[in-house]
Amino acid sequence: MSDLDAFRTEIRAWLEANCPAEMREPVSDEDDVCWGGRNFKPKNEAQKAWLDACVARGYTVPDWPKAYGGAGMSPAEAKVWREEMARIGARPPLSSFGIWMLGPALLKFGTEEQKVHYLNQIARGEIRWCQGYSEPGSGSDLVSLQTFGEDRGDHWVVNGQKIWTSYADKADWIFCLVRTDKANKYQGISFLLFDMATPGVTTRPIKLISGASPFCETFFDNVVVPKSQIVGELNRGWDVAKYLLGHEREMISGAGGGDRLNAIGAVCARNGALHDPILRAELAMFDVDALAYAAMGEKFLDEAKVGRAHPAQPNMMKYAGTELNKRRHELLMSAGGSTALEWESNETGGGKPSRSWLRTKANSIEGGTSEVMLNVVAKRILDLPGA
Ligand SMILES: Cc1cc2nc3c(=O)[nH]c(=O)nc-3n(C[C@H](O)[C@H](O)[C@H](O)COP(=O)(O)OP(=O)(O)OC[C@H]3O[C@@H](n4cnc5c(N)ncnc54)[C@H](O)[C@@H]3O)c2cc1C
Repeated sequence: MSDLDAFRTEIRAWLEANCPAEMREPVSDEDDVCWGGRNFKPKNEAQKAWLDACVARGYTVPDWPKAYGGAGMSPAEAKVWREEMARIGARPPLSSFGIWMLGPALLKFGTEEQKVHYLNQIARGEIRWCQGYSEPGSGSDLVSLQTFGEDRGDHWVVNGQKIWTSYADKADWIFCLVRTDKANKYQGISFLLFDMATPGVTTRPIKLISGASPFCETFFDNVVVPKSQIVGELNRGWDVAKYLLGHEREMISGAGGGDRLNAIGAVCARNGALHDPILRAELAMFDVDALAYAAMGEKFLDEAKVGRAHPAQPNMMKYAGTELNKRRHELLMSAGGSTALEWESNETGGGKPSRSWLRTKANSIEGGTSEVMLNVVAKRILDLPGA
């Protein structure tokens, strides 16, 4: 038995003993997702037990070093962990912007003190983070951002406004891009961390087309941020921001993976929609593309393992994964027929298909739009003239 096989046996046995049956059910509403944070209230005992068991072993962030709350798994071991979780349909014990975005940036740019402090908090799910990048007028052209941090010796005083800040009203802390030099566009931005409870921070939820309010306008009015809360060098926050965006795009691209045809097949089995030859042809095309997407993901993972990842790969994955997920939901709506359009009926669980379908429209905007992803692919991968 190879070391990896032995590791798989150990992980399988541990999951069998520690992952409660309720945590192997598909996520069906927002409460099923464990976001952690100061105000987190577990939905049930099983959710809490699953989180605690994983925190104790470093399994909320299995590939982070043990000193920072992880389990120190190698990339190959982490892949085994993901496969064994998927095999039993286990829910992630903890979902957070800290794990997906800030953590990787801190691992690369943080001081040792910041890593020990913030990464362990993230791994334990103690602090919920939000991302303060976009501003009114600065989305795709993020580098034009205006929120300003005025130098006052041992601290900055931050004034400005962010927009589309996901879960800002629920987050404990924010990782935020702040201009600290007005004369220098790219090298005049710093990456700051601060508590959302700091005086002068306010949020106002924005309602989405799906009826939910997952994001906010966020206002900073003379917010005091100590100088120790900068990540990376002064005025070099753009480097940290770009690196983090790569991880964000990888995370969002995950929407393309997972279930290929099961959910759509289940709808068709209920209402006989498969009789429609056009729908059948569209399903077949979708499945081929979903397989190609999965193969591309595997290839990129292998390239990353041997240090040959192209820096623009997350852009490709983000474009492909989000466009695929939008198609998946278009097909679910087509298969569901007029019932799927019901907004509040019991049969649709309060409009789940249509609300999810509308939510996917944002997939190709959040974290950078599809048009911008294609620009990057044209320029950095295809090297097209004039791109
Ligand atoms: C659900 C959701 C959650 C989000 N969460 C967060 C968050 O937590 N924190 C945060 O900071 N931001 C967040 N955002 C904001 C997101 O990052 C921006 O919406 C995105 O970067 C696009 O910026 P914009 O909305 O200003 O659009 P714009 O940049 O104004 O773009 C408008 C249109 O112009 C196109 N366009 C712009 N520039 C180009 C170009 N150079 N070439 C071709 N086409 C172009 C775009 O593709 C788009 O179609 C979120 C957005 C959504 C939808």
